[in-house]
Amino acid sequence: MTGTVIVGASLGGLRVAEGLRKAGYTDSIWLLGAETHLPYDRPPLSKEVLTGKQSPADTEFRTARELTDNGIEVHVDTPATGVDCASRTVITKSGAFDYAHLVIATGARPRQIPGADRLAGVHTIRTREDATAISAALDAASRVVVVGAGFIGAEVAGSARQLGVDVTVVEALEHPLERAIGRQAGAACAGLHARNGTTVLCGVGVDGLEGDESVKAVTLADGRRLPADLVVVGIGVVPNVEWLDGSGLDISNGVACDQYLRAGPAGVYALGDVAQWTNPRYGESMRIEHWTTTVEQATVVAHNIVNGDSPRVCDSIPYFWSDQYGHRIQFAGRTHADELVEISCGADHADYLALYRREDRLIGALAIDGTVALMQLRGRMMSGADDWSESTDFATTSFGADDG
Ligand SMILES: Cc1cc2nc3c(=O)[nH]c(=O)nc-3n(C[C@H](O)[C@H](O)[C@H](O)COP(=O)(O)OP(=O)(O)OC[C@H]3O[C@@H](n4cnc5c(N)ncnc54)[C@H](O)[C@@H]3O)c2cc1C
Repeated sequence: MTGTVIVGASLGGLRVAEGLRKAGYTDSIWLLGAETHLPYDRPPLSKEVLTGKQSPADTEFRTARELTDNGIEVHVDTPATGVDCASRTVITKSGAFDYAHLVIATGARPRQIPGADRLAGVHTIRTREDATAISAALDAASRVVVVGAGFIGAEVAGSARQLGVDVTVVEALEHPLERAIGRQAGAACAGLHARNGTTVLCGVGVDGLEGDESVKAVTLADGRRLPADLVVVGIGVVPNVEWLDGSGLDISNGVACDQYLRAGPAGVYALGDVAQWTNPRYGESMRIEHWTTTVEQATVVAHNIVNGDSPRVCDSIPYFWSDQYGHRIQFAGRTHADELVEISCGADHADYLALYRREDRLIGALAIDGTVALMQLRGRMMSGADDWSESTDFATTSFGADDG
């Protein structure tokens, strides 16, 4: 048997296919997608697409012609419904695909508030269709409630404010972005909402949604009632693994992989939002839902398929960016810190760099509008130059010199 079947035609799947061709792979590549579109980019959906600066169609990574010319056979609207790892066959609604290698890149889908599906005006954002629907709703909305102040919720709030719509964000934790960057740095990011006229209610859960056919209000656990004609829910995602039921793969939190992104049975790999892998840099099992990690994993998977006898580990340093209210927030590393030190903090928090210390090492860095320093710090962590006092000296100099 020859050829690679890639299930999931989005960022991760596409990048593996292209990585294979770049590495000289000459066998067939089938890229199977559940959506009706060719692979497209999701980050603009909550940013430029909502503010009208980019059309949904412009998010497409490659044209059909470019994919064909690169020897990538794309099957859209072809969800995989099962896999038989013994016979190396993927089953779809339109037929079976045999493989020598299988790549699982089925990503994740948003969690929703129970009961939300009975009401118009309640949205999540993951797909082009979601962004188009929210964009249309924003045109008519006067009061938006965003549930969840993670990076997706914060971006939607920022985009809605740019359009002049009244926005309230509800967050169950004490600070925005707390899960992603910790309490102290989350508090710094709260300032961005406040200065841009977004009301943020933290430390309170959502009790329910009111409305007959369309949503009228969000009710909170403390009894408050927030009138709303549009609700966007950003409370995390669940990995798309149901199609792997009965496959024998460990799918308890995404697809479990080793440090080489191998998922168990011979020839099977996983990456991106759906993959939980053992990162040897940290000796930790993690599932990261960010763009750059997906791209870095794709390089590893493509290499390992082509060079099975000399595989590479995936020891990526988690990294994400988020654009909110015209500011770029970036984080690299881990947050389990003993201490967080703010290196530079402008009066309006617009120039902000925080370093995360664990014992005598730098384990993470967060910047608001400090791209150069952040990327340099990530590079240092990657190369092992993570001594704490050297890192703080470096950051103080570098941040002031390059971004201040
Ligand atoms: C609105 C939004 C904004 C974002 N902004 C940022 C950002 O600013 N910075 C950042 O770092 N990250 C951001 N991300 C995260 C980033 O886009 C994801 O990490 C990335 O898309 C993951 O790629 P993936 O290929 O693993 O999964 P996905 O992009 O989720 O793609 C998985 C694909 O698999 C398909 N699929 C599912 N099941 C099946 C099946 N059974 N058969 C076939 N196909 C299937 C899905 O339909 C989907 O097309 C954002 C995400 C969203 C949704």
